[in-house]
Amino acid sequence: MRTREEILDLVEEEDVEFIRLQFTDIFGTLKNIAVTAGQLGRALDNRVTFNGSFLYGDRRADGEDLYLHPDPDSFVILPWRPQQGKVARLLCDVCRADGSLLEESPRQILRRTLKRAAQKGYTFRVHPECEFFLFHTDENGIPTTVTHDQAGYMDIAPLDLGENARRDMVLTLEEMGFQVESSHHEKAPAQHEIDFAYGEAMETADQIVTFKTAVRSIAKRFGLHATFMPKPRAGAAGSGMHLNISLFQNGKNLFTDPQKEDGLSDEARWFVGGVMEHARAMCAVTNPLVNSYKRLTSGFDAPRDIIWTVKNRNALIRIPSVRGEETAVELRFPDPSANPYLALAVCLAAGMEGIEKKTEPGARAKDVPEGMSEEEKAAAGIQSLPETLREAAFAMERDEFLRQVLGESFVRLYTAGCRAEWNEYMSQVSEWEVEKYLYRT
Ligand code: GLU
Ligand code: MG
Repeated sequence: MRTREEILDLVEEEDVEFIRLQFTDIFGTLKNIAVTAGQLGRALDNRVTFNGSFLYGDRRADGEDLYLHPDPDSFVILPWRPQQGKVARLLCDVCRADGSLLEESPRQILRRTLKRAAQKGYTFRVHPECEFFLFHTDENGIPTTVTHDQAGYMDIAPLDLGENARRDMVLTLEEMGFQVESSHHEKAPAQHEIDFAYGEAMETADQIVTFKTAVRSIAKRFGLHATFMPKPRAGAAGSGMHLNISLFQNGKNLFTDPQKEDGLSDEARWFVGGVMEHARAMCAVTNPLVNSYKRLTSGFDAPRDIIWTVKNRNALIRIPSVRGEETAVELRFPDPSANPYLALAVCLAAGMEGIEKKTEPGARAKDVPEGMSEEEKAAAGIQSLPETLREAAFAMERDEFLRQVLGESFVRLYTAGCRAEWNEYMSQVSEWEVEKYLYRT
């Protein structure tokens, strides 16, 4: 844990001029207020305030200001900003005037879940796989979905046109303290993936937020636009953010059991059961955009049915083949537009509830042969993910357990946001509709 004095010294030694106090809104967009180095003491005393009404519902009515409490361990210099008069950032918790944490703050929602885990002696290690696209910008610098890249899965240069940008992204991330495990060209043209090492859940959520900003900033340097939009192009793969999760207790991986034929413990299976039980209700968080559902319903290695497997890549949950201390459960439905704090909170909470209730997971991928009709699936008790954001918001509201994990007032705020987005979408008339119906009707 870094002390206040250490940060003040570092800022002086490194010639840092600006410090960005960062936090996410409920949907996961990173926000910030910048303070000058001279104001850092005040910021570290938790005295920087902002008007929370816009980001956290209407708190203006009772005149409530919200306070930013910086997390000293999150101090990092932003390598893509000028190196003279540097810029650093601190991730912050959002609090009330009396110092209590705001219950609707995503970081607080994850912290609450991790506290419940700690009471059982559990810690979670999470390894995210973030996919994204690199597109060209037009002559005015506006992002497009144009690319000249024609590379596919794990292709190499000169086919892979993102090679240099990816290289700089990895080096920048390492400079910021990330341990990057690997990076590669993904299946769709212009699609990439960078994987960083397992971390404790809160650390990983913080890292995902940092990762997205770093990737976008470096892409810009190459005249490219990096997007974490789940399905930017029809007819090509979308971007997922698979979460590989392991559960530890007293330094031991609880998901592994060498006595079992498949090497998986009861806890691993029950964890899967819990996630499957609440998957429909979790989607509004793990897949928060209208566009998220275009990824989930279109194949291309993205899941649709609530099934688990040790093999099939289209399943909701896959158990990678590695066993022993590295045994993990891979959740394949989240996408990178999700707020990572909320996505981890709901996934871990649902998994823990599964362990507590000894929830046996339902259908496995092998129970769903190719070409099985919707009726046959329904008869076999195989559910599928919501097809729209609207359906996902309803599912969230109906799930009592999830409402308790996220908090009633959060769910009200959040689902109202989802509905507003859905209604805005429904008020549009798309090119597809005009082309399809204008002449025919
Ligand atoms: N892009 C795929 C998805 O939408 C995943 C591809 C992969 O297996 O890495 O989830
Ligand atoms: Mg991938």
